[in-house]
Amino acid sequence: MSEAKVVMIDAIMWFRQDLRVADNPALNAALQQGRVLPIYIHDTAAAGEHVVSGASALWLHHALASLEHTLQGHLQFFKGDALQVLNCLCARHNVRHVHWNRCYEPWRIDQDTQIKATLIDSGVTVQSHNGSLLWEPWQVAKPDGKPYRVFTPFYRKGCKSAAPPRSPLSYPYFKAEHQFAAKMDNANTLQSLELTLGKEWETATAKNWKISEIGASEQLDTFLASGLVDYKTGRNIPASANVSRLSPYLHHGLISPHTVWHAVGQQAASVDTEHFLSELGWREFSYYLLFHFPRMTNQNFQANFQGFTWEQDSESLAAWQRGKTGIPIVDAGMRELWQTGYMHNRVRMVVASFLTKNLRQDWRDGAKWFWQTLFDADLANNTASWQWVAGCGADAAPYFRIFNPVTQGGKFDSAGVYTRSLLPELAALPDKYLFAPWLAPAQILKKAGIVLGETYPNPIVDLKASREAALQAYAVLKANMGLNASD
Ligand SMILES: Cc1cc2nc3c(=O)[nH]c(=O)nc-3n(C[C@H](O)[C@H](O)[C@H](O)COP(=O)(O)OP(=O)(O)OC[C@H]3O[C@@H](n4cnc5c(N)ncnc54)[C@H](O)[C@@H]3O)c2cc1C
Repeated sequence: MSEAKVVMIDAIMWFRQDLRVADNPALNAALQQGRVLPIYIHDTAAAGEHVVSGASALWLHHALASLEHTLQGHLQFFKGDALQVLNCLCARHNVRHVHWNRCYEPWRIDQDTQIKATLIDSGVTVQSHNGSLLWEPWQVAKPDGKPYRVFTPFYRKGCKSAAPPRSPLSYPYFKAEHQFAAKMDNANTLQSLELTLGKEWETATAKNWKISEIGASEQLDTFLASGLVDYKTGRNIPASANVSRLSPYLHHGLISPHTVWHAVGQQAASVDTEHFLSELGWREFSYYLLFHFPRMTNQNFQANFQGFTWEQDSESLAAWQRGKTGIPIVDAGMRELWQTGYMHNRVRMVVASFLTKNLRQDWRDGAKWFWQTLFDADLANNTASWQWVAGCGADAAPYFRIFNPVTQGGKFDSAGVYTRSLLPELAALPDKYLFAPWLAPAQILKKAGIVLGETYPNPIVDLKASREAALQAYAVLKANMGLNASD
């Protein structure tokens, strides 16, 4: 960092995945200490392969812009090694206190541990807070003290016997010009972090979202008003508005899980509210697993999968990525992802099963693509979910459960609303053949204006044969069932 004039600062508030003012424990604590320097540090080296990128970086850009606006231009941006940036700021401005909300990615934990030790050594008080999880991973354990590996006992026994999630904090009072440090001359601009590249796809993808703290609240209100009733069944139908679409807001911390938990908990109790809260429980479970088994980001959770031979076929991987597999529900999902930065959960499961089971490609390749293209790309949820579908994760779908994309399409998009909206080239195909156009008689294809192999691809794989081949390949795993990466 270059020279900067000395400014009086009592506390630094280091924003990370908590880009909000409401219910932000670290910000509240910092504000109680006097003049606050609110900062964001873009440290690309420490994150390594898990650096925020693609769609998620675009979301981050807009979320930071919105937070900067809420803080009336006082959010300050820095680039580079976070330890060095914090050290310099503390030394130059004689800062006594640093606050942040905890993150749980393995690289973050390593970095935070090092930063905490270094700053404390130089006389700075460092306080980390819980702004992102309903239960800290170390608060929930089996009676024998070991971590849970199965969701139901984790949630029903472990979480329910721990203290209930705290209520959201009251909105902090601040007068920006008095309470926040003035802009430093060595701070960067948001634009210079290069989180957005000014490409056309960025405008098109972001336009359907209101990326701000207010946007998150409105999204929650809309869901409570019109999505929550019938959530339990409606959440499986990609064309229905029964899901909250809160995942990118939760990942980047534009809303806290406590706010969502209590807002839903205050609605009349029903199977729908209970089911929604349990989905927040799955989010907790993913973070819990990541904390206790950090190697799972790259290694199969179940050790019997080590050495399993995945196919390496870049052509079929590219067809899957671009939504050109010739399997309509898979292509619809992959195009939804590409066009909107989001994919419905039911379809995420179908496309992931197709990649890992019918194409037998490594779940890590799928996870990498999702990391680039999802607005809600989240190391805990993405890793745990991919491993779950591939069959190698904790409490995973059994290896022999292979989603049939034709049946899934017919069952969960029976009127074809979702699929037709994303695959206009198949719009005129009758429902009967929509999910398996290769079975349609020639005259029906002709009437619908479809030439397979030209206007829409032939299937890149035979669903029945690839299912049988996967079952055979996976069968060798049976012998070693029950082991996992932590053993
Ligand atoms: C292969 C695969 C990859 C995934 N990658 C991600 C990812 O990178 N980031 C991500 O946030 N979710 C991921 N998920 C989980 C899930 O699909 C999304 O959280 C959900 O679709 C988000 O939409 P929503 O907010 O409308 O969900 P809702 O149904 O409204 O659920 C509310 C919230 O609960 C949490 N949640 C719901 N389902 C799950 C789940 N299965 N696992 C963990 N948390 C859940 C999310 O925070 C979500 O916002 C993945 C699922 C699969 C099958």
